[in-house]
Parts: sequence; structure tokens; C-alpha cells
Amino acid sequence: MEKITQKKEIPLPVPGKGAVLIDTHCHLDMSTYQDDCEAVLLRAREAGVTRIISVGIDLESSRRAITLAEHHEGVYATVGVHPHNVGELCEADYLALRSLCRHPKVVAYGEIGLDYVKNYAPVSLQKEHFGRQIALARELQLPLVIHDREAHDEIMEMLEAAGPFPAGGVMHCFSGDGAFARRVLALGLYISIPGVVTFTKAEMLHEAVREIPLSSLVLETDGPFLAPAPYRGKRNEPRLLLFTAQKVAELKGISLDEVARQTTLNGVRLFGLEGR
Ligand SMILES: [Zn+2]
Ligand SMILES: [Zn+2]
Repeated sequence: MEKITQKKEIPLPVPGKGAVLIDTHCHLDMSTYQDDCEAVLLRAREAGVTRIISVGIDLESSRRAITLAEHHEGVYATVGVHPHNVGELCEADYLALRSLCRHPKVVAYGEIGLDYVKNYAPVSLQKEHFGRQIALARELQLPLVIHDREAHDEIMEMLEAAGPFPAGGVMHCFSGDGAFARRVLALGLYISIPGVVTFTKAEMLHEAVREIPLSSLVLETDGPFLAPAPYRGKRNEPRLLLFTAQKVAELKGISLDEVARQTTLNGVRLFGLEGR
């Protein structure tokens, strides 16, 4: 007799009735979601992830994020150019970025920052355009979405020199320790925790999450990247945020519902989502 092996779905942590979450950083516009975006959004909603911030990484992806936000309730967009993509940024692009920011569903500027792991663009250009985009976000009074890979000190030096930031912002995909977190918090920024927190070996991040006040935390998938532990290596998507929320609850010794409630409140404040 032929043996049938059935692929088992790993069950999602289930929050209490009515609990909702915000995926504060997802690249919904990427081609990996092209064929089943509707299904991804439906699954997210069913899991309680009712709002998703679709983050732009260059001019085109910012445009696509806005189009997605226009067509889907609960989806919002950011506009900005990722450090990987600043190599060919020109004046005309800045004009276009500026005008995209006027769209009513644009809730933040980013992601912008420094990436010293890949160094796709020279460091000097990364810094120049990070500085310029910080200034643009400040002028437009938009919260910042900051990308930092192996550039903690230089990012903080630039932010500390440019601040304060009345519109706030978030250090996305946080990868530092407690001391770095304190520096970020001193600028009044939120800290966003990715699925990496579910990895056993992410001990420094575990410590940081224990230390950072819940009132300063938001959650993200960074989909399609960085799927949380039970799905590690697979395509990430907003509904998997529940695993990240569950792990944060465990680290802080509180309920999943409390994590959902407070991080949602934080996300609404950060991106000004009240009534939008
Ligand atoms: Zn990033
Ligand atoms: Zn990103």
C-alpha cells in the first residue's frame, strides 16, 4: 500500500477574540506575492493581522506600495530609497519621491539607512542619501523607517545630529543589544522586532526585548524575508507575525493579547493610523 505523507500546517498562536496586530514592515509589492497577494491579505486578516505597512525600497516599489494601499483597506504605504538602491538616485527621483509622499495613504518615509553587510552602494553615497532623506522626511513631517545592518554607530551619529524627530520613527528589524536600544529610545524612536526573535540563538535580541519597554515596541515580518522559527527559510507573510508576537510575550512574561494590544496602540501612534 502506498504511504501518503500529508504536509502538516504548523498551527499559528491564536490571540483572544477581537485581538488585532499590525505588521509594521512588509514588502507586499515584491514579486513573490504577485500571484497570491489577495490570499496573503485574507490569511493575515483571519489571523488578526488587520493592518500592514508596505514599505518602499526605491521609487518604483514606493509607487507599487501606494497602489496596493489604494486597493486594500488596512494596507498603508511608505516611500523611500533603501541604502542598497541609492547608487543611481538623481534629482528627478527626489522630486518624484517628494510628490509621492503627498498621497493620503503614505504614513512614513523609508526605508532608509545604512547597510554595511551588502554594501551594494558605496558607503559615501549611502551616507549622503541617508542624510538627505532624513532631511526630506523631517521637512514633510513623516515618521522615519530606518534600516540598519552592521552600522549601529554611524546610524546613531547621523540620527543624533539630525534630531529631534517630532514625527517620530522606527528602527526596523532591530538587531542591536540593550545599550543600542537605549540610544534609539533616547531619540524617541520605536523599536521593531522581526521574526529573528523566534530563533533559539538570537540571545542578544532576547535580552534586548526583555529590556525594551513594551510601550516602545512594534512588530514586523519584513516579509518575504526572515520568516519566524517554524517557517524559517520559507517565504514570510503577515499572518506569521503571530509567532513573533508569541515569542515577545514569552520573553516578557505577559500574554499574547497584551502584546497585541500594546504593540497595536504603538503602531497606530507611530504611523498616525487613528481614523485612517
Ligand atoms: Zn530593512
Ligand atoms: Zn524592509
